[in-house]
Amino acid sequence: MPESLPTDIAALRDRTEALARDTLVPLRDDDSIDASTLRARVREASKEAGLFTTTQPEDFGGTRTSLLAMTAVRDTLGAYNVGHLPGLFGPGPGVLAGVDEPLKSAYLTPLLAGEKRAAFGFTEPDKAPRATWGVIKGDRLVINGQKSYVTGGDDADFINVLVEIDDRGPAMVVVDRHAPGVEVTARFGTLDGSHHAYFEFHDVDVPLAHVIGKPGEGIPRALRQIGNTRLVFAAESIGVCRYVIDFVTDHLNAPHRSGTPLGAREGVRMRYADLRIKAYAARSMLYRTARLGDAGENIFNETVATKVYATEVVGEVVDMGIQLVGGIALRTDHPFEELYRRVRTLRLAEGASDILRINLAKGRLERELGRI
Ligand SMILES: Cc1cc2nc3c(=O)[nH]c(=O)nc-3n(C[C@H](O)[C@H](O)[C@H](O)COP(=O)(O)OP(=O)(O)OC[C@H]3O[C@@H](n4cnc5c(N)ncnc54)[C@H](O)[C@@H]3O)c2cc1C
Repeated sequence: MPESLPTDIAALRDRTEALARDTLVPLRDDDSIDASTLRARVREASKEAGLFTTTQPEDFGGTRTSLLAMTAVRDTLGAYNVGHLPGLFGPGPGVLAGVDEPLKSAYLTPLLAGEKRAAFGFTEPDKAPRATWGVIKGDRLVINGQKSYVTGGDDADFINVLVEIDDRGPAMVVVDRHAPGVEVTARFGTLDGSHHAYFEFHDVDVPLAHVIGKPGEGIPRALRQIGNTRLVFAAESIGVCRYVIDFVTDHLNAPHRSGTPLGAREGVRMRYADLRIKAYAARSMLYRTARLGDAGENIFNETVATKVYATEVVGEVVDMGIQLVGGIALRTDHPFEELYRRVRTLRLAEGASDILRINLAKGRLERELGRI
């Protein structure tokens, strides 16, 4: 792909491509290996190719990797439909980035070493009388409330929870999964195959030192983490667009039972061209946003716009891809069937499309912010 990448990033992209083609695709397609073996083999291969540490901070043995480089990596993995495989990347710090003691030794270090797992508790249910709140009592914080959609929450060792601290404002707070008063009241899966939990907090008593940063800083911290994930979603979406369009290209050129390949028909070509136009637009947004971020610009709005557009485009591309390939693409062993389920979640997770649209409009209309 002609992205005019600097030589070092082009080399990383090529390494990623070799890893995807020679190792990850065969692993993905091997039905004889179980989930934990798959994770272990993917991790080993990723470490060997130098990808595993790209998401980790340098002072924890990570590799300094620019947004552009990570974009090229995730785009490439998506183009082989392997970006979703477990174990590809080392755990990142998330909202714990830059914390001091005691959180550093007790949570951040074991998290980065893969010894502890974290989850993110942000979304509140519709019916709660009050969003999750905390009251400071000396050097303790007592938390009550609930979070309705915590991915991986049941298996996590701790949850980073957004808590409204009385008189101080919102804060992200580390809460041990099995602390007294922490209750999982529902466990559920979603159509992309991921698992989540509904949490209730009843007088959960944590040290005040479990507040990440200062009380009042919770929303910007949470949004920074969400912003990073939004760009990840966009890059994976762009890669998947390429995977689907390449697959459709082969299909349209292949013999068809009518005697003429489908790609010879003008109506089909119109649909096919639309897929390419939209994927190109989304791809251009993504690479531009990554470059702006690497140049030190504030890319909040560009990231929102790219997340909305890329995740909507990949939804359209997969949907039309299925239409053009026909009924066979809905077989449960067809890659498009799995992709259809997987990409649907991207328009809700890390911000529903229309809510993000409202935010983009609000920033410009009410605060005169928001260059895009
Ligand atoms: C796979 C997946 C994983 C998730 N993981 C986590 C997690 O780990 N931690 C966590 O905290 N949350 C998680 N979530 C929850 C996610 O953050 C929310 O689903 C998302 O923010 C949308 O909130 P909601 O579902 O409450 O929808 P709502 O906010 O109720 O919105 C529903 C719909 O109403 C419409 N709408 C709402 N407000 C407006 C408005 N002002 N203007 C116009 N239309 C509007 C939109 O169409 C919107 O899609 C996850 C969700 C998914 C799907």
